[in-house]
Amino acid sequence: MSEQKTDRYADLNLLPIAGKWREGRAGKALQDTNPYSGETLLQIEQANREDLNEAYAAAQEAQVAWKEMGPAQRSGIMLRAVQIFDERKEEIIEWIIKESGSTRIKAQIEWGAARSITLESASFPARVHGRILPSNVPGKENRVYREPLGVVGVISPWNFPFHLTQRSVAPALALGNAVVIKPASDTPVTGGLLSARIFEEAGVPAGVISVLVGPGAEIGDAFVEHPVPKFISFTGSTPVGANIGRIASGGKHLKHVALELGGNSPFVVLADADLDQAVAAAVMGKFLHQGQICMAINRIIVENPLYDAFVDKYVARVKALEVGDPSLPDTVIGPVINQKQLQGLVEKIHRAHEEGAKLVVGGEPNGQVLPPHVFVDVTANMEIARDEIFGPLVGIQKADSEAHALELANDSEFGLSSAVFTGDLERGARFARKIKAGMTHVNDIPVNDEAHAPFGGEKNSGLGRFNGEWAIEEFTTDHWISVQSVPRKYPF
Ligand code: NAD
Repeated sequence: MSEQKTDRYADLNLLPIAGKWREGRAGKALQDTNPYSGETLLQIEQANREDLNEAYAAAQEAQVAWKEMGPAQRSGIMLRAVQIFDERKEEIIEWIIKESGSTRIKAQIEWGAARSITLESASFPARVHGRILPSNVPGKENRVYREPLGVVGVISPWNFPFHLTQRSVAPALALGNAVVIKPASDTPVTGGLLSARIFEEAGVPAGVISVLVGPGAEIGDAFVEHPVPKFISFTGSTPVGANIGRIASGGKHLKHVALELGGNSPFVVLADADLDQAVAAAVMGKFLHQGQICMAINRIIVENPLYDAFVDKYVARVKALEVGDPSLPDTVIGPVINQKQLQGLVEKIHRAHEEGAKLVVGGEPNGQVLPPHVFVDVTANMEIARDEIFGPLVGIQKADSEAHALELANDSEFGLSSAVFTGDLERGARFARKIKAGMTHVNDIPVNDEAHAPFGGEKNSGLGRFNGEWAIEEFTTDHWISVQSVPRKYPF
């Protein structure tokens, strides 16, 4: 309680809907809990379809004036939001730790990523531009105007809630759209309410942002099907994203979608790699945020000559990781987000044993904290190699050659991020280009995000790209306007 009294955001049990902070009308409260301690942080009255209709109607109305605001003014609001990020850095980090079970290291990274995309978005109002094209018709001028889409619906997951919400909301707003956010039920504050509050304080007018907290299964379809949003920016799992893609393209109201979905990142270590550096990267790239990152290493693939040495060093490093309370500065592995996720991971561990993988690091869960697990003798057909794991558990596979390593790396339905370690950078770049993924990092971890570089996946990892000029493309649309300055001669 004492913490809540001094917490500027302790009143985030209300939802900003259509310009007013109030309770949702579903008549069902959500307990926002700390996944490490189990403590209730806030109790939030959830939104229903009536709230959803009000939020979208207000966003549609408010967007008209918002898009007319001059670029310097919209940019200024983004910069003011960045200033608030800086002033409230510790408070934001505390919320990320206590609501999403993030370690301090991860919460700092997340705060930095959200800040970067907001700062990058401050440049968008002045970077969006149209074109004048030649015409084959005498006396005609072809103009292409780049316009905001209108209202954008943002659906975000619980793992990097603050950043993944912000990475859609900041560009959407900067480019003149209004937004309605549906955060994940595990992270209503860091996945939406906090962003809305900061943007409101920064000067975004009432109604331009609404947040609907409510179960995806109950308001999710209506959120996507609704006639108002022209774009649904979804980040989450592949099955839910595929369903959203179907609704958006097959329903009564067609709309654009961006789908940032699951991953199964391969981390390839070729025989000429710097072993110590590869081991250090494989620890960080797997265990940051307990492995609950779409880009996290899901499969470690090591070329035969380095395999045994890699396993020995990796196991020693993983066994030394600090596990437990995420708010302590040295903790590397904190809790997984909820009981359902924990149960799913425990089942994956059982199946890895059943399928013949050999456990070399393990341990029993303590509350929602699952200690790191490492399996060796893993083959491509095992579940821990095929499925997205999303937890502190990894399998190591042996490759007979570079070609075999590439075959293993590409043997997945997913294609989000990936990494390759080698002593020869050009060999690494050649290898990288043969990986079917949206992102590949040579001599680094697959977990990378820079606000000006294209972020997104191939195959079942999604559609579309975030960040920089790619976000400008995603959150705007073209309007071709031709102007006929002399009377045109028609054939009849
Ligand atoms: P999820 O798909 O279960 O949920 C994501 C969001 O969708 C939540 O807000 C949820 O409430 C909502 N939702 C659920 N059902 C819905 C429905 N029928 N209609 C509309 N919305 C609905 O995913 P999660 O468990 O929150 O997150 C983990 C997944 O997200 C992993 O697969 C991970 O790889 C993926 N992810 C991808 C990226 C990326 O950038 N590619 C980033 C982070 C996480």
